[in-house]
Amino acid sequence: MPVYEYRCNNCHQVVALYLRNFADVPQVRCTRCGSHNLSRLFSTFAVHKTYKDVYEDILSDSQLVRGMMANDPRAMAQWSKKMEGAGGGEIGPEYEEMTERLERGERWDKVAGEMQDRQLPPQEPGPPETE
Ligand SMILES: [Zn+2]
Repeated sequence: MPVYEYRCNNCHQVVALYLRNFADVPQVRCTRCGSHNLSRLFSTFAVHKTYKDVYEDILSDSQLVRGMMANDPRAMAQWSKKMEGAGGGEIGPEYEEMTERLERGERWDKVAGEMQDRQLPPQEPGPPETE
């Protein structure tokens, strides 16, 4: 599930889109002012991290955590990028489930707590099944 992010050139709102597949690119409009004048933002994550690393990274970022608690869309977008970077571009099923639950309006701390309770299996750096 690719995540597209755009920045509105009119009001500078960041718009995040969660798409079913790369062919499903809708007409992108700013969620704040409705402008079509948007610039695509590119994720620059090239570092492979395990999900555990990303969780710790997120939880160590108190400002991000507060934003998540408050359902701040910018914090959501930042979290999405972190999770996207965790798989090196490969979005895991946990990520999809978490994103879908957040989109339904469930609380971040509740969703994250349940995901952590499942105790994700440890991942070695450089998974053997790459390609
Ligand atoms: Zn706008």
